[in-house]
Order: sequence, then C-alpha cells, then structure tokens
Amino acid sequence: MASEETFMRAPAPTPKRTIYTEAMEIFHFAADLIGLDKRVRLELEEPDYEHIFYVTAKLKDRLVPLLPEEAKSFADLSVTQVRNTEGLERLANGNIILNGRALLGSDVAIRHGHLRLPDGLVYQLVPGESQRFKAYRVQHNQARGPYKGGLRYHREVSLDLFKALAAEMTWKTAIAEVPFGGGKGGIQLDPREYGREEIEAITLRFMYRLKSLIGPNIDIPAPDVGTNPEIMALLYRQFSDGERERHNLRGIVTGKDVRIGGSEGRGKATGQGVAFCIEDYYADRGESVKGKTFVLQGFGNVGSHAAIILGNMGARLLAVNDADGSIFNGDGIDVNALAAYVSDPKNLKRSVIGFPGAQRIEKKDLWDVQADILVPAALGGEITADVAERLKVKLIAEGANGPTTPEADRVLQKRGIELIPDIIANAGGVTVSYYEWIQNKRMERWSEAEVDQRLERAMKRNYRIIRDISRNQPRKTEMHDSRPYCIGKAVDSRCAAMILALKRIEAHYLLEGFSQ
Ligand code: NAD
Repeated sequence: MASEETFMRAPAPTPKRTIYTEAMEIFHFAADLIGLDKRVRLELEEPDYEHIFYVTAKLKDRLVPLLPEEAKSFADLSVTQVRNTEGLERLANGNIILNGRALLGSDVAIRHGHLRLPDGLVYQLVPGESQRFKAYRVQHNQARGPYKGGLRYHREVSLDLFKALAAEMTWKTAIAEVPFGGGKGGIQLDPREYGREEIEAITLRFMYRLKSLIGPNIDIPAPDVGTNPEIMALLYRQFSDGERERHNLRGIVTGKDVRIGGSEGRGKATGQGVAFCIEDYYADRGESVKGKTFVLQGFGNVGSHAAIILGNMGARLLAVNDADGSIFNGDGIDVNALAAYVSDPKNLKRSVIGFPGAQRIEKKDLWDVQADILVPAALGGEITADVAERLKVKLIAEGANGPTTPEADRVLQKRGIELIPDIIANAGGVTVSYYEWIQNKRMERWSEAEVDQRLERAMKRNYRIIRDISRNQPRKTEMHDSRPYCIGKAVDSRCAAMILALKRIEAHYLLEGFSQ
C-alpha cells in the first residue's frame, strides 16, 4: 500500500493540451525570454473573468425540405400558391422561415404537415419552438484599459477558444497601442440556420444577459466571425434602451454602421491593416506589392477587403477558398467582380463557389498554389504542420486569429517562409475600433482619409518595432522607437510581437502597482 509520503511525491499529472494552452505557448516562451515579472505572469496566464450563460429565444415556424426519397410519398400533393412571398425567408441550408403571416390568404394544400411549393419541393412544416443557446464572454485582462474584443456567432465555439481569443486581444491592443485590454465572446450557433428576426431576438436576449457585465468604459464588443454592423446596431439599441443619456452610450460597441456612430473605414480596417503590413514588409526589402501574387483563405470581412486593397496596390489574387470550397485562376481573379458575386442577395451562402471568373479546385488544393503571399482570413488552426510542409508561398500575413499551429510555426521557420503574425497583421480592426470609440466619446466624425492615415502610421510604426525586436536592431527614427523593446538577441517575428505586447503590459503593472 502506498504510504502518504509516496502519495505526496507522486508527479503532478501533465496538464491537458487544449486550444488555450497551445495558444499560450508563445506567451510562456516570450515571458521566459524577457524574464517577465512573476506576478504579472500569473495575472496574464488566466483570464480575469470567464462568463458562461444561456440565452433563450422563440423560433419561428419553418419549412424544412424533404429529401427526394422522402418526398415520393407526397407525389400527388398539389402546389401551394403563396400570396405573400415576401413572408418567406430562404436560408442557406434550404429551410424557409415563415415571417409574419406568410401563408395567410394562400391556397394551402397541406397533408400530414407537409406542403409543396412552386419550386417543386415538398416541405415539412415545423412549428417554431423555444430554443436555448450557450453564450460566452471572456474578459482576459484590463491592465491597459477596458476589455475589448469581438463577438462570434459560430457552431464551433467553446470556453477554451474564447479564452485563447480574449488573450490574443490583450496582446493585440498592447501592440496597437490602444488603451484597451482583451475580451472575446459570442454564441454557439450557426447564423446561416436562422432567420433575420430570429437572429434579432437571440441578439437582443444576449445583450439583455450581457448588460450587467459590460459598458462603454468596461468592456466593448465588436464584430467577429458571423456578426456584422446590423448585429452591433441591435446590441447598441438593447444596451441603451430607455436610458436618459443614450447618446453617451454609443461606445458600448464598435463596428457600427457609419450612419449610427460607426467610424468611416472600420468595415475595411482589418483588411486594410493586413495590406499596410504587407506593403511595409516589401518596402523594407526595397520592393513593392505591385506584381506580387497572393492566395487567400476566407472571403468574409477581412479576406474580401484585404483582397480588394491588395488588388488596388497591384497584386494578383490567384486562388481563394471559403467554407464551401476553393476557386483558382492563374491569370488572376477579378476581386471586385468576386466581391459583387459573393454579396449578391441571390448568393444565399455568400460563397465564392460558382464565380464565373475562376475554375473550381479541390478545397485543400488551395495550399498547393504557388504564389508570393498567403493571407489566411478564415478560422484558427487551419495551417497545420502538414499544410505548412505543402505551402509554396514566401510570406504569410495572418488576417485570421491563430491560423497557424505551433507545430506549423516550426515547419515554416525550417522552410524559411516569413510571417507577419496575427497580433500585428490583423490589428487594424481594433485600432479603428478605438478611433470609433474616441469619436463616440467626443461626438466627432473623422473622414475616411483621416482614419486611413492614422491607421497607416499606427500599423507601420508598431510593425517596424516588431521587426527591429526580431532582428535585435534597437533604433529611434522619426516614425518609431524600438530601443525599449529589443532584448539583446534576435528572435522570430511571432516571439518579437509577443515581447512588444508583454513589455507594454508589464509597464502598467510595474508603474501603477497592484491593487490589493
Ligand atoms: P467573416 O464571418 O466575415 O468571414 C469568414 C470567412 O471564412 C467566410 O468567407 C467563411 O466562408 C470562411 N470560412 C469559414 N470556415 C472556413 C473553412 N473551414 N475553410 C475556409 N474558409 C472558411 O469573418 P471575418 O470577420 O472576416 O473574420 C475572419 C478572421 O479574421 C477570424 O479569424 C477573425 O477572428 C479574424 N479577425 C477579424 C476581425 C474583424 O474586424 N472582422 C479583426 C481581427 C481578426
């Protein structure tokens, strides 16, 4: 029998490897390198707060199409002529939401809850029921200012993922030198499976629950995957509803429509920031973006804007993929035409697939396309070690958050593929979110040119500091000063970015001290 002593000496179990521990590997590496203050390290290792809560909403009646096999037993069912076709809302998954009194006044032929529409398909009428959704808000750190970070509506979310993304925001706001900390959150749902009014109901209820945890000087959400300016407007309305000084609360969310206090240039800001970094990368080598080729993963907010801006700088997009597949054109894809194709209301999936100006290729073949630059702008963890072995590009500019796994990082280094890491490359979004927040506070309105100019300076200044840290080249120029951050030896660019973030955050703790 084991004595108490041997029991006490038993080795501690190795901590489980999760998305969060994986994302924090670089934090620990950089913290060791710079000898980060022990207490600061403990403060940053785990989030300040992890909120998990539930949101309920009543769904609408919907029509769900039967498979051809199932529809056979309804072969003689006559077609229902819908009078109020505007009440039918078609979703990307083929379901149809019945809004208002969609079927009122129609000649409805219904059998066992099934009906046939003029498109020939047989649908089952599924009555709307209440549903519960899991929601999250992780508030990672506020040493430098209010928590700041996006809201994601996606099927594959978890506490662990939001912890990783919230920590990334803490690093990113420090790198961008905006007076914010880090947060992230969202709801576990696939927004493409719900109607407009359902998303509205879920969003309003979400803010109803979130309201006591956030505020324009406490925690400021923004759009992320699956959310957009319309959702930000709903969140603002719900937060400020009935408040006497509603106008003072506009800064509760950023990424709003410009007509209700959003900033000019915010929609494209993340893609714009990616492009500024790429431009500066080449300028540093005495080259230009003009004539370069690129491959893109994800054609949503970040990907589409980055593509358009890089296109305007003279680069050529050779291949792009999204959740539904990949397309390729060796002569270059007309990016503006592709953006118009994807945003066409008839393109329910908002997909690049079917675009006439390119040919479809196998989804995974995107990684084999030879080009100068790869811009991942979809989800995290996409560039695995296997993918990194296959890539035929020279530079990766991370538009997405956490697209490259630590193993893949090692492969990229071995293969000499250069990297502009996410926490600088996609920091344009939060930088212009800060401009929006300031404009809201001051009741000002800046022009797009002013926003772009400030963004360009901020992105390039901080990217240059990171490059100097990476090369161990401390210097002061008219634009930037890297002397306080270089550590006496060269490091890779991801580590350099983390060093900049940690040194800036540490200064707050060391100079302001810890509240007891
Ligand atoms: P979005 O929802 O507008 O677009 C996401 C795109 O990724 C879509 O084209 C979608 O089809 C594609 N996609 C999803 N799953 C995919 C898969 N498995 N394979 C290939 N493509 C897939 O989201 P977004 O706002 O453009 O965000 C994209 C990334 O950029 C995310 O990682 C996000 O966290 C990050 N980011 C966004 C912002 C911002 O301001 N929106 C700022 C910083 C970082």
